[in-house]
Amino acid sequence: MSEEMKSRKEKVLCTAKNGYDRMDASEMQAMEEYCRVYKDFLNNGKTERLCAREAVKLAEAKGFVPYRRGMALKAGDKVYTVNRGKGVMLAVIGRKSLAEGCQITASHIDSPRLDLKPTPLYEDSEMAYFKTHYYGCIRKYQWVTIPLELRGVVALKDGTVVDVALGEGDEPKFVITDLLPHLGGEQGKKPLNEAIPGESLNILLGSRPVGECGESDRVKLHVMEKLNEKYGITEADFTSAELEVVPAAMATDIGLDASLIGSYGHDDRVCGFAALKALLDLDTVPAKTAVCMLADKEEVGSMGVTGMQSAAFDTFMEDLCESQGVALRVCYEKAFCLSTDVTAAFDPAFADVYEKRNSALVNYGIGLCKYTGARGKGGSSDANAETVAYVRRVMDDKNVIWQIAELGKVDAGGGGTVAQYMANRNITTLDAGVPVLSMHAPFEVVSKLDCYMTYKGCKAIYEAE
Ligand code: MN
Ligand code: MN
Repeated sequence: MSEEMKSRKEKVLCTAKNGYDRMDASEMQAMEEYCRVYKDFLNNGKTERLCAREAVKLAEAKGFVPYRRGMALKAGDKVYTVNRGKGVMLAVIGRKSLAEGCQITASHIDSPRLDLKPTPLYEDSEMAYFKTHYYGCIRKYQWVTIPLELRGVVALKDGTVVDVALGEGDEPKFVITDLLPHLGGEQGKKPLNEAIPGESLNILLGSRPVGECGESDRVKLHVMEKLNEKYGITEADFTSAELEVVPAAMATDIGLDASLIGSYGHDDRVCGFAALKALLDLDTVPAKTAVCMLADKEEVGSMGVTGMQSAAFDTFMEDLCESQGVALRVCYEKAFCLSTDVTAAFDPAFADVYEKRNSALVNYGIGLCKYTGARGKGGSSDANAETVAYVRRVMDDKNVIWQIAELGKVDAGGGGTVAQYMANRNITTLDAGVPVLSMHAPFEVVSKLDCYMTYKGCKAIYEAE
């Protein structure tokens, strides 16, 4: 290419570059260190409750204290509050009044999984099982024949809450069985989404009977006795339990170059962790109050008391505003929110559902999404042009590698995030997040570079004047 053409092109045409062509050695080192800590976070936080706990642990280590209603707050104070064990809201009080707005990130820490039904335990053909009810949008066929763990709580009538963790480390795992190919002829003809019915997602728990030959439910009894021995619970206690079946695989580097991370739960802990870590790493007091929202229930529509539609967020924000004598609505109308949730990464194996020019590419940085939604932007929060321009400026000022993208072809489908619920509050909001391969699978893949740039992007938002 002639020099003249080169300069003419550079002047007016877009020149997107792979992030690796834009990062220096010290940043790559910082990226590796960041991703090492992120993998620990994933392994310690396989449920929303565990994530919330881990977030609090990391925050307290950085000087955050639980918020108490009415406490006096000054610039630089770091507070958090936990919503029913499943969501966390954290804030670093800024130099300016909340009347000037605040800088928010909102991500979710719940992930698709299999929940136990309220009456889960049964025996069939002298094997014991748990019935499950899947949570969020899963591809059911992906959950059979992989090692699984059980995590969650059993709440007892006396008010105590028992933590359950089965299948950790060297402990025995669980599994959902599938049909052998020799007998799978008819099953194989079914559409992918129907081949494994929801009611067949039953967790194999054991096969060894106790007691006398001829008695019924001897395997079920054995399993329940083991649970009783370990946790002091009885079958009736499943009624008030929240037990989640999650993949047993741990987060691990992927690829000969170790440039990717494979794990359960990247959606959306990859953004939740970025948003959290960025807040914890603020080394100077930000101009505006920085708020990190880690929500539950996004995967089922953000409903309920721990979802983004809950007034829990407004209550926290109103408490902060009241401490400065500011009306919540005044704060909201000047606030900005980066709704950080994952987007789909272009996958060459399934190129026909993507429109490549408008897809998020692996290693091109945090993906900004002006709108999400499906088929004609249905269910989307469509950020206005000025908002996107603002984020472009903020990210560019801090050398954040970003890209702009849509999720798939116009007619192919789509998705939503918590963005609309923030926008409904009269908070200017833009979607952004890490591009993911195999999103919602038990083992999702992201690039380290995109993870790190999402962290940098969140930090840039918190630090914006
Ligand atoms: Mn998500
Ligand atoms: Mn999701």
